[in-house]
Amino acid sequence: MPQSLYPMIPVEEAVNIVLQKVRPLSPKPVSFIQALGLVLAEDVYAAEPMPPFAASAVDGYAIIAADMSPVRQLIGEQLAGRVDDLQVSPGTAVRITTGAPVPPGADAVVMVEYTREEPDGQVQVEAPVEAGDNVRPVGQDLEVGQLVLPQGTLLGAAEIGLLAMVGRTEVHAYPRPRTAVMSTGDELVEPGQPLKPGQIRDSNRFSLMSAVREAGGVAVDMGRIGDQPGAVRTALDRAVHEADAVLTAGGVSMGGGDLVKPYLAARGRVHFGRVRARPGKPVTFATLEEMPVFALPGFPVSALVCFEIYVRPALLRMAGHTTVQRPRRRVTLSHDIRHGTGRTEFQRAVITGSTNGQYLATTTGYQGSGRLLSMRDANALLVLSHEQEHFPAGTQVEALILGPVWNAEDAG
Ligand code: AMP
Ligand code: MG
Repeated sequence: MPQSLYPMIPVEEAVNIVLQKVRPLSPKPVSFIQALGLVLAEDVYAAEPMPPFAASAVDGYAIIAADMSPVRQLIGEQLAGRVDDLQVSPGTAVRITTGAPVPPGADAVVMVEYTREEPDGQVQVEAPVEAGDNVRPVGQDLEVGQLVLPQGTLLGAAEIGLLAMVGRTEVHAYPRPRTAVMSTGDELVEPGQPLKPGQIRDSNRFSLMSAVREAGGVAVDMGRIGDQPGAVRTALDRAVHEADAVLTAGGVSMGGGDLVKPYLAARGRVHFGRVRARPGKPVTFATLEEMPVFALPGFPVSALVCFEIYVRPALLRMAGHTTVQRPRRRVTLSHDIRHGTGRTEFQRAVITGSTNGQYLATTTGYQGSGRLLSMRDANALLVLSHEQEHFPAGTQVEALILGPVWNAEDAG
């Protein structure tokens, strides 16, 4: 299909098409140590209670709470990690450390701060004590059979700790999507190279590989591809065998050197080739043998904004997440914005919270598609309707929240 004939579809429709075509990857067994950041693909239960024995919550003396003896005779010491043959009876006490098993007979532990131990081993309790004080009963934290981590849980630090706690050293989790990233363009050189006339440094490959990693994927560097049909074909065919998804940057607009779309159309299926969005009109989504291929425009801002809108949700879905969209929030413009109508515009902005509960948005300046600085520090994309040209200061618009939002008074 000639490229101009791809219908220009709304952003929401394009995102829906992507999410319909993309499926979660097959779960795999993984060591719990490697599972940080993965989504759990099974329910994990506690096979044992936690704590597995009645444990002291403090350093102190194990006693019988109802025992009214004026002093108690120390009969031994119970340390954590061992079980000594000690039996507490009226008139006796056992010195005990935090995490040690409460000896039989005792029903409370009194904190060392509320006791006095004489050199002759007589212990005085100087505070009222009730049965159960400072004793963590069996199963207080986890009961046997309790669902600890349901399928779909994102495994963070606490969750990895819970796996360790219940003794699960291997779990089924969704793998990180391996995502091949290549940039196209005869004008591109590596970042370490000096520029000859007409050349620029390849930045997209590095911003996109980083965006893949931030989204929890594994970036596979496919290098720079020249604007020759053979080079594009070879690189895409190799990527299909090495990855779960492919990102290309550049070569999707209407210039003579733009070869990605025709090859995708010939070799696989192009699901859309133009979107009513700024930046990112020529963004293209195809499948090659079921493998999603995102052909992103070459302008550095367009590439990253398109990653945000189409690729990140797809990678999250592949990685087993059920919530794949950024949070949205109504924000108040701190200044006027004018934009060309006809396309939904994603303006980069900095959002701050304010004491009156409103969120204030300030754009990051000139919004040219090549000005990557417009994305520096941006924590939101303002979604500006294609129908409205002028947004006066104070207007509420919708924003996709990309990062932490601080209150203005907390900044700095
Ligand atoms: P294209 O989409 O290939 O027509 O490229 C659009 C613009 O983005 C051109 O000015 C390119 O030089 C620039 N561009 C393309 N690829 C990259 C890249 N990987 N890094 C930086 N700029 C690029
Ligand atoms: Mg190009």
